[in-house]
Amino acid sequence: MEKNTYHWSVVNPINDYGVNINIGDYVHFGEKYEGEKGTLDMDYFVLRENLEKAKVHFQDAGRMMKAFEHWFGPYPFYEDGFKLVDAPYLGMEHQSSVTYGNGYLMGYRGRDLSGTGWGLKFDFIIIHEAGHEWFANNITYKDVADMWIHESFTNYSESLFLDYHYGKEAGQEYVRGTRMNIANDRPIIGTYGVNQRGSGDMYYKGGNLLNILREILKDDEKWRLILRGLNQEFYHQTVTTQQVESYISQAFGMDLKPIFDQYLRDHRIPILEYYYSDDQTLNFRWTSCLPHFVMPVDVEIKGEKQRIQARTAWSELKVKTKGELALDPDYYVGLLKIR
Ligand SMILES: [Zn+2]
Repeated sequence: MEKNTYHWSVVNPINDYGVNINIGDYVHFGEKYEGEKGTLDMDYFVLRENLEKAKVHFQDAGRMMKAFEHWFGPYPFYEDGFKLVDAPYLGMEHQSSVTYGNGYLMGYRGRDLSGTGWGLKFDFIIIHEAGHEWFANNITYKDVADMWIHESFTNYSESLFLDYHYGKEAGQEYVRGTRMNIANDRPIIGTYGVNQRGSGDMYYKGGNLLNILREILKDDEKWRLILRGLNQEFYHQTVTTQQVESYISQAFGMDLKPIFDQYLRDHRIPILEYYYSDDQTLNFRWTSCLPHFVMPVDVEIKGEKQRIQARTAWSELKVKTKGELALDPDYYVGLLKIR
């Protein structure tokens, strides 16, 4: 019997579930990627029979690295390289060694999770699991109740991949399209101290929450610097949701707690109620939300766009002439004209 010994080393800190061992009849190919921190080894280990299709299909890995270094900053594990490894299951974000089992199909096993067509422009497992290198492996939750830090940002990263390669509107359509997967069943944050994660809404609703924040900020370059800043500030660390929330609030120069509370700690979608008390007076408020919820929202009345500061108490706004109110579709909220 032949005996082989292999050594594998990782020099960066690694979370316990980020470790994996694969045994198979693997063949190897790879590339050198010129990235933000220098030359990065990108290596691919696939089963012999998959080699030819992998050589074409895994081109998404380089496209991923370009988009994510742009949005999130340098790949966090240059010393360990980046790898894709064929596996008999769908895939997993093992640190610097992502396992791959998406069948060499675009989308999620050939399916578009957004229903818009954009989800078929990339291999879901390559993009999503690699996105976790920044949010999950670089910035890791202290308690699984805060798993949104991994899944919301990584779900959102799929739209940023599209944004980088196909333009902002592609990413926005994708985020809006994924709303059909939201359950609004229970809060995204789970119970602390008992190893309990929150709702699966941490994926699509969490992605929509981040997209709302970008919309509120209305400064895409600053938004990018915040995402990069998170990866710098919490480089190779375990964190709590409070640390992430405070960092973002501080960078915004705005208290975002009411928004985080609503989308992470409550299960409802806020609804903007409105009516006109006379021809020029719009009355509006948030309902179906926590009592302290407050969030600005961009609206359009008779072709005129403006931002209103809505709360749970009624507010008034003078308008030129009353008309149907339309919401900026990038806010994941409801709208109800009550009289
Ligand atoms: Zn994930």
